[in-house]
Amino acid sequence: MRAHPAGPRHGEILAPIGAPPQPENAEALHALDAQVWPLGASRSDGTGLTQRSVSIAGVDVRDLAAEFGTPLFILDEADFRTRAAAFRSAYDDPTVPADVFYAGKAFLSAHVVRWVQEEGLNLDVCSGGELLTAVRAGFPGERIAFHGNNKSISELELALESGVGRFVIDSFEEIVRLAEAAERYGVVANVLVRVTVGVEAHTHEFIATAHEDQKFGLSLAGGAAEEAVRRIVKLPSLHLAGLHSHIGSQIFDTAGFEISAHRLVSLAASIRDEHGIEVAEIDLGGGMGIAYGPDDDPMKASDMADLLRGIVVKECAALGLALPRLAVEPGRAIVGPSMITLYEVGTVKVVDLGAGHSRHYVSVDGGMSDNIRTALYDAEYTVRLVSRVSDARAVLSRVVGRHCESGDIVVRDCWLPEDLSSGDLLAVAATGAYCRAMASNYNHVPRPPVVAVREGRTQLVLRRETTDDLLALDAGL
Ligand SMILES: *Cc1c(COP(=O)(O)O)cnc(C)c1O
Repeated sequence: MRAHPAGPRHGEILAPIGAPPQPENAEALHALDAQVWPLGASRSDGTGLTQRSVSIAGVDVRDLAAEFGTPLFILDEADFRTRAAAFRSAYDDPTVPADVFYAGKAFLSAHVVRWVQEEGLNLDVCSGGELLTAVRAGFPGERIAFHGNNKSISELELALESGVGRFVIDSFEEIVRLAEAAERYGVVANVLVRVTVGVEAHTHEFIATAHEDQKFGLSLAGGAAEEAVRRIVKLPSLHLAGLHSHIGSQIFDTAGFEISAHRLVSLAASIRDEHGIEVAEIDLGGGMGIAYGPDDDPMKASDMADLLRGIVVKECAALGLALPRLAVEPGRAIVGPSMITLYEVGTVKVVDLGAGHSRHYVSVDGGMSDNIRTALYDAEYTVRLVSRVSDARAVLSRVVGRHCESGDIVVRDCWLPEDLSSGDLLAVAATGAYCRAMASNYNHVPRPPVVAVREGRTQLVLRRETTDDLLALDAGL
């Protein structure tokens, strides 16, 4: 773990650990690595330094800033659709039928719901608010899976009214709540049991344990998952549709999935032996990683799909089980790289670190209220000057927000041109997942809008929140 972000790391400047290597030249300082930036990102060819701004899907970021203001989330629609379609076709295999659920918690809005539907994906939601967004945008209930470790009765009722196709059961209480609600509605609810399989993955690595000390799921090792199945199969208003596990995030290989698939398939075999029921569906969850920086090397959706299919086929054959339907739930891997955040530079402060070293603190007009991931997870992002290019030398910089908190850091260590100044536009790449979705109103700062761009056209996806929106909540005004 790192120490407090604004604390002891000040001392590390002599060997800036965590800082990416210094760019070799101006070209590298301004490059838009294809792994990291949306498919539609490009720099114009103008010869003058001030002309070489960045466009997304043919729309100049300077025009977007002028029209919509900053901070601004820019969503490359074609990028989103391309990634969604790549997942759809990766799992489209006649030998192992499979469904892809877009995990809406990464980022959800009515436009995104429609794109997900048009690209042939299903949808995960984990609250009444996400569910209503999907339903009101016209998404078919039977293609929705409802997650969450503490769904309320009214949320379960809303889901039953909406004809939600799968409930992912996360507790014994939920079994009772859902069974009673389904009975009242005179329907049979399809349920998957969320199994804690003892694998935890984050950021390139995973650990496998027998037990898991976490709030999600029903433990396999502790017998809770089998007990949940026993209770479910006795209830006429519930139908055991399958087993589910979700092992973590930013996963770059299939080793963790291999263990979770093995454990789910073994559980399916014991369910067959105990109850005579063939489990029809195995959902391996989401967590497929993306590139936040040039060194991240995520697996192609189709390569991972081939491997996951192979694993499930092998595990089922070993236990003589009929092949279940497979499901995966990517969120970040679809929307993460599709979006960037555009900020305007407000102030640049050069802080002397001693021994001839300095760090440039570049304050932008957003921060931890639109991207909490750096503060929360030590996430690393790529940032570029996008309103122009500069031939000034690269200086070690830190992009910070405007909030009253010293941990309000957007990009901890990066290189930016020395002549950066007020009014320049910076873009942070790969902010589509868990940034706008986790945005807050800290310091009464309104949340930024999301604008989709496609073939030179713009479309507002979420409007900017206003101070009036915020003050309207204040009962004393
Ligand atoms: C968060 C979550 C996902 C999506 O995770 P990503 O890392 O965005 O792919 C999928 N399934 C479940 C159950 C989740 O909680």
